[in-house]
Amino acid sequence: MLQTTQKKKPSGAHSVFSASAASRWTQCPGSIALPEVLVGGGTDNYSYAAAEGTALHELMEWCLLQNKDAVDFDTMRLPLEDGTFENVEITDEQYAVCQDVVDRVREIPGRLMVETRVNYASVIGVEEGEGFGTCDIAIIDGSVLHVADAKFGRRAVGTQGNLQMLLYAIGQLSVCELLGDDIDTVRMEILQPRVSMKTPVWEIAVEDLQEWAEELRMCAHDVQLARADLEKGTMDSEHLKGWAKKYLHPDEDACRWCPAALACPELQVLAEFPVKFFDEFEDLENPKAIVEQAKEKTLELSADALGEAMGRIGLLKIYCDAIEAETTRRLSTGMEVTGFKLVRGRAGTRYWTDKDDIEDVFHSAAGIPDDLYMTEPKLKSPSQVASAFKKLKPTLDEDVIAMVDSVLLTEVSRNDPKPTLAPSTDPRPDWHRVDIEAAFEDLA
Ligand code: SF4
Repeated sequence: MLQTTQKKKPSGAHSVFSASAASRWTQCPGSIALPEVLVGGGTDNYSYAAAEGTALHELMEWCLLQNKDAVDFDTMRLPLEDGTFENVEITDEQYAVCQDVVDRVREIPGRLMVETRVNYASVIGVEEGEGFGTCDIAIIDGSVLHVADAKFGRRAVGTQGNLQMLLYAIGQLSVCELLGDDIDTVRMEILQPRVSMKTPVWEIAVEDLQEWAEELRMCAHDVQLARADLEKGTMDSEHLKGWAKKYLHPDEDACRWCPAALACPELQVLAEFPVKFFDEFEDLENPKAIVEQAKEKTLELSADALGEAMGRIGLLKIYCDAIEAETTRRLSTGMEVTGFKLVRGRAGTRYWTDKDDIEDVFHSAAGIPDDLYMTEPKLKSPSQVASAFKKLKPTLDEDVIAMVDSVLLTEVSRNDPKPTLAPSTDPRPDWHRVDIEAAFEDLA
């Protein structure tokens, strides 16, 4: 495959109509305005899944741009929400899923573009700078544009009608136009190695994209109306109630990553339903009466009511996650949440303090079998060496055992444990965020 690259990293600016949130703002027009008016803009928290996704995208990009395989890159550092990095050795499984994506991309003939910033603001009728995204993979093969998006989660994502892909394709077509490519067909594909690498490709003629673009334009227009209506509104409770009814449309796909989930009145109404569908119990002083009522209510529960409640469990879970995220955010910034505190979670991942050095030490020592420290072609992680060591110990000489014991004791570091939520009554000591600047000031 002939490879050329044009790489443009996104600027720090925020894409209001982001492609990755298209399933949210197309379904719920108020979902852009609501976080904008919330103090602090809502809750957006670090998640391991997001950090892992960033790291694996970076690895994929290195492979494709440097024409290497995933295992050729030895270690990775996962980005954390505060801009620092955590030392994490990418596991064999993570190397493998990244390699699956790289292999699939290499199968597609044409000119490759990796992580291109694409702009679709004018196509969906929003202000310049409010509609852009980063297209993972674009490959131009004659008059065919192949657009692919890598997803490293375990939730299956369909390609047909996928609005995120569509926005990337629309934006990428403008790039192709600038480069003089005459495209008549777009093929869109989602590469999700942990689900299936056989997700069907969505092929569409460029002329048929117009219809989709029109639909996206209408959704973006509704979002603009919701923003304007909230800005010019009197902000009294009647106006807000009417606004919420008109513009907020809860839906699992839309609400899942919504930064306004905790404060969203419409989500709250739907999420509460499954836990409130029994009428109030009467005579709470009388245990016998309570048991009788509970039996009666359960027997009377209709299939329709149960089905409806079941259908809303997803939204209830989203609401619970939002409560947990806000609790963690407040406690980790020194605020109080009655009845809860943060404690030290499980110890972080183990990593070699100097990987190259350790490989040399093992390699040059006599009597150490290769399978104790190598998974060809790379060095095993400290945990893997410890487990291989346990198995092989009875077959090793005493001085080899002493040497491996010493390496495992002195040459391994761990990331700090992450804070975990616990009730205030938990016996573990409180976790305190270390204020590095204050510590330095104290030393001065
Ligand atoms: S939580 Fe759901 S309904 Fe509420 S603003 Fe967000 S996407 Fe819309």
